[in-house]
Amino acid sequence: MENNLEIKKNKIPNVLITDLNVIYNQGKPNEVRSLEGINLEIMPQEYVIIFGPSGCGKSTLLYSIAGLQKPTSGTVLIDQENISSYSKKKTAWFHRRKIGMVFQAFYLIGSLSIIKNICLPKIFDGVKRKERRFLAKELLERFGISEQAKKFPSELSGGQKQRVSIARSLINDPDIILADEPVGNLDSKSSQIVMTILKELNERDKKTVVLVTHDPAHLPYGDKIVHMMDGKIIKIEIIRKKQEIREALPESFVLKEGGIEERGELIKEEYIPLNLRHLMRSFRGLTSNQISNLLVPFKAQQIFAHLFFSMTNDQIEKAIKKLEDFLYAKITIEDFTKELDMPLEKGGIGWDKRIAERFSENIKQITEQANSISFIERDKTAWEIADYLNIRLKLELDDERKKELATIVLDRLDNRIGKEEFQKLIDFSTKDNGLDFDKRTAVKIAKELEMLLLLRYSN
Ligand code: ADP
Ligand code: MG
Repeated sequence: MENNLEIKKNKIPNVLITDLNVIYNQGKPNEVRSLEGINLEIMPQEYVIIFGPSGCGKSTLLYSIAGLQKPTSGTVLIDQENISSYSKKKTAWFHRRKIGMVFQAFYLIGSLSIIKNICLPKIFDGVKRKERRFLAKELLERFGISEQAKKFPSELSGGQKQRVSIARSLINDPDIILADEPVGNLDSKSSQIVMTILKELNERDKKTVVLVTHDPAHLPYGDKIVHMMDGKIIKIEIIRKKQEIREALPESFVLKEGGIEERGELIKEEYIPLNLRHLMRSFRGLTSNQISNLLVPFKAQQIFAHLFFSMTNDQIEKAIKKLEDFLYAKITIEDFTKELDMPLEKGGIGWDKRIAERFSENIKQITEQANSISFIERDKTAWEIADYLNIRLKLELDDERKKELATIVLDRLDNRIGKEEFQKLIDFSTKDNGLDFDKRTAVKIAKELEMLLLLRYSN
């Protein structure tokens, strides 16, 4: 008893959550009480597992600790500081230096090499190239992925990608690692490697680890298991026999000096959320200050995803109906934006204002462009469309390549080629008379053009 008190006195929790409530869509018919009356203490160097069925509020709790989710009420203290009182600048600093985050979906930047992905947070901090590379190489070696340094994310297996994302989360040496279902997408062998890495970060590197999982097989890794149900903590289990658990871990996956051996199969198609792609594209040419502000939304990807998932079918269907009204010119774009944003009770659709505005801005741009398509001055139209595609899809084409794109667009306008051929032509390498876009971009350009043509024809 005395001993316990002694420990309590000496150690100050690095996470202290008091009476935390998070309510989404408060007061609306689709109100969700995501977290209710949460009290939780996480000690330095503790390995905490937040466990419970899907939808019980685990991610919301983790994002609250990360400062990505504002409490409806209650407080979250990290190292005795209330993170919701932080300024924007301090929040950006907090995300870079205090916590490292690991997600199920990795969120690696597809256009950057593995080593650059890992260095990214250091670039934001203005650390010299040589120093960041040195740190990144150490991490690559440690996690047995040195050979992948110059490759791109799409060339790696899921397990390798997750090791890269852990390396990225560690490059600033944060005290706390937050991991949201980090092995949810991995096969069992890769899962064990990643779980072992996290365990080692806790034991050898003395990091505080908070892991979110719905898989009971992971429970033996934790020191403290927080059981959740319906937005509440229903039980906290403290596990003491740390050494025994360590010994029970699969021997073959314990990390050794010199890294681990693993060959994973290649995953060909990579899922990159739309808003992250926007971020990737905006990345070039920004100052480090601007980029560090971008880091917060970068980590907030999953919250964005929630926003869309939280939309009801009814909301989506109503939005589509309104869009039709706009396309039939029954309402103006301003009315359309207003109705998207208007609360459900008032007969609106109840979207978040910023999303409503961005959505209708996109629609406005594309319809304006479609309306200006002229089948008489086809050369001029083709050039304008190439210009539009270049800006809208941020292709960064010079005039020479824009002209080449316009030529292919003209072929499509004249119906000499169909959608498939158009896409192939811009995807082909330059030596095969194509435009040499990567496949994803080619698909996007083709889709955008078809959309324009469709809108034009229906007018
Ligand atoms: P878990 O991670 O345990 O699966 P979450 O924290 O993601 O659970 O979600 C808890 C509850 O809150 C769910 O009912 C979910 O649908 C809801 N929710 C999460 N994010 C949002 C949001 N942005 N808007 C509305 N509801 C949300
Ligand atoms: Mg979740």
